Amino acid sequence: MSGLYVHLPFCPYICPYCDFAKWPHRRSAAARYLDALAAETARAPAFSAETIFLGGGTPNTYDPADIAALVERLRARFFVPAGAEITSELNPDLELCEGFDAYRAAGITRLSFGAQSFVAPELEMLGRRHSPDDVRTAFARAREAGFENLSLDLIFGAPGQTTASWETSLDAALALEPQHISTYGLTIEDGTPFRAWQAREPEAFADNELEADLYGLAIDRLGAAGYEHYEISNFARPGFRSRHNANYWANGPYLGLGVGAASFLGGVRSVNTRDLDRYCAAALEGSPIPVNSECLTGTARAGEAAMLALRTAEGVETQSFAERYGIDFLTHYAEVLSEMRAAGLVESSPSHVRLTRRGRFVANDVCAAFVTVP
Ligand code: SF4
Repeated sequence: MSGLYVHLPFCPYICPYCDFAKWPHRRSAAARYLDALAAETARAPAFSAETIFLGGGTPNTYDPADIAALVERLRARFFVPAGAEITSELNPDLELCEGFDAYRAAGITRLSFGAQSFVAPELEMLGRRHSPDDVRTAFARAREAGFENLSLDLIFGAPGQTTASWETSLDAALALEPQHISTYGLTIEDGTPFRAWQAREPEAFADNELEADLYGLAIDRLGAAGYEHYEISNFARPGFRSRHNANYWANGPYLGLGVGAASFLGGVRSVNTRDLDRYCAAALEGSPIPVNSECLTGTARAGEAAMLALRTAEGVETQSFAERYGIDFLTHYAEVLSEMRAAGLVESSPSHVRLTRRGRFVANDVCAAFVTVP
């Protein structure tokens, strides 16, 4: 498996919790950026893209015709096999949700909507300008255009959110019968307006106990509705897991194009500059795009792979781990595993090690413990 990620960084407005590489939409900057992407694409290494993911930012700040031309350019430059999964993220703001037929014609197979909540005051708190009904209408338009693989994102731990309002969002999401649902705990990032708000008024934000309750509710509600909890934050109907993200968790190779985009090729992880002007100037001049890179080898690479695999429902498959990284998982991580087992955070079968339900609630801490083993 190998996947291609393309970053489209413009947004119709900026959400106060967001730490992604993003900028308010301006027509001239957005057009220049597409030219820069085309230049980077033309110089990119040969690559087989079994999945393509257009992420942002907000890809649908571009006209559908621009997105179709972009996908066509990617197909012309890279090998994209028949049956490739091609996803675009979308903001459900209805002014931006036109032209789904053009997405279909371009070969996009999957749409992922940033719904975030189905409770209007929560959307307002999150700085989102779409309504719950906009998400429903956007979904209906996508279905009418023939999309059979739709995903939506929800945020839990939003200011003012309660278990009852979270149930409202989960039930409203389920009513749309999406093939895939992602639930993300709100993280407060440095430098964002939410960080400043939290410093002034910490009680406005969910504490650990409430966050755990909300996460547990999602696991139970979505599980009861037939969704596989196949990764810490992701739930899918059988057969509809995100193949693009599965490749990340399998520590597979990926190529990232665009400002701030990350690649992992031949054991080297690199990240394009997050400076929009520098990115565009370098790409358009034909100069190397500034990157930060690191080569992961030996136990560092194995630790990273363990961390990623443990995020998934299957966990670490010990035999293939040994074949790929030359490390006996059960021996090398014996001390960490023993602590985690004693705390009820991981469980083992003869072939796999995975998180328990309890482990999923503290997954970041559990996974990080494997990365630090020398
Ligand atoms: S729309 Fe998405 S990428 Fe843009 S500011 Fe909001 S959260 Fe960030």
